[in-house]
Amino acid sequence: MPVIVQKFGGSSVADIDRIKLVARRVVDTRKAGNAVVAVVSAMGKTTDSLMAMATQINPTPSSRELDMLLSVGERITTALLSMAIQALGVDAISFTGSQCGIMTSASHSNARIVEVRPFRVADELETGKVVIVAGFQGTSYKREITTLGRGGSDTTAVALAAALGARQCEIYSDIEAVHTADPKVVLDARKLTEVTYDEMLNLARHGAKVLNAEAVEFARRAGIAVYTRSTFKPDAEGTVIRANPPPDASSVTGVTSRKGVLAVEVSNVAGNDDEKVVRGLMERADLSPRYVCSGFGGGCADLYIFQDGAAADLRGRITKALGGGIEGARILEGLGTVTVVGDAVSTLEARRAWMGCLENLSSPLGVIATPNAVTVLVVEDQVDLLVKALHRACFPNGETDHESVR
Ligand code: ASP
Ligand code: MG
Repeated sequence: MPVIVQKFGGSSVADIDRIKLVARRVVDTRKAGNAVVAVVSAMGKTTDSLMAMATQINPTPSSRELDMLLSVGERITTALLSMAIQALGVDAISFTGSQCGIMTSASHSNARIVEVRPFRVADELETGKVVIVAGFQGTSYKREITTLGRGGSDTTAVALAAALGARQCEIYSDIEAVHTADPKVVLDARKLTEVTYDEMLNLARHGAKVLNAEAVEFARRAGIAVYTRSTFKPDAEGTVIRANPPPDASSVTGVTSRKGVLAVEVSNVAGNDDEKVVRGLMERADLSPRYVCSGFGGGCADLYIFQDGAAADLRGRITKALGGGIEGARILEGLGTVTVVGDAVSTLEARRAWMGCLENLSSPLGVIATPNAVTVLVVEDQVDLLVKALHRACFPNGETDHESVR
């Protein structure tokens, strides 16, 4: 029987009715003659509330205990979904990540999957059961429960699909497809029917929420095609992420953004050792910035850019790492990034288009350019404005599908 892995995100399982809806979807797939593994996220905003509870109790909770706590969110969903499927008369069994043989590195709150030994999953599929798996978690070689970082359930799904030799991996959320920009911000954002792993990786790394970046890397390595779908409109065409189509040098894939970004600004005027000192302190505290760039603001400064929410109490950790304050280093909060992704971003026209958009901003703080993505750091309340302006510049003529954009 072909194996299909279906992953359901937090909003798809936010309440009992939605869990029942998901159960129907899973049962339909099973009844169509497939072996089904359903990977689930925690219900709605459960992970955020668990995190908030933890920091109310201890402003810098230990990452081990945090993993013990956060992994419970997914576990609740698995048991409820399993019960919902059983109520529809189909055999189902729920598992934690560790029961599924998801082996990870030892780094709490941001563990990497190193191996999957899905024997129990395979055995249960063999008996005809639907297997429900708690996403976002695994177990380290030290037998500790670990979590995979925010959005990590996607990675669980792709890793299991690879380990089981699944025919298909489907990612269900409240939006069926990846778009050229967030359709909630840019009303005429276009649906992307096919994107390559590299395009998706860049979109995900720079804030697109449909699929987590780690999961895309996994899919690329294993050569697995990933299909995005809407839980609420399962028949709507989604996006396929796979090696084809070959990238077209003239294309811009999309515009994406992040909010809740935080930067440590370090002045690097000649003769100033602050930069080295700060870098050392951050390294020792295991704080790895997402990017480092030179700031635009008066004079010479380096910006170490972090994404808030990536770790519990990032600000607290940075403050602690920097000690009582280092001359020449300051924390900037309330920032965001806007990124244009695509092979065309390094062309002259693309640069002109985004420079034109930047001129209308009061405060671009820094720019980070790589061959396939250009990221602008701005204050948070300019993020949506810049997304709209850049999208207009990159997709000027209201066409509606990806093919015509390429
Ligand atoms: N529940 C976790 C989160 O909110 C993992 C996930 O949903 O993928 O980040
Ligand atoms: Mg997600």
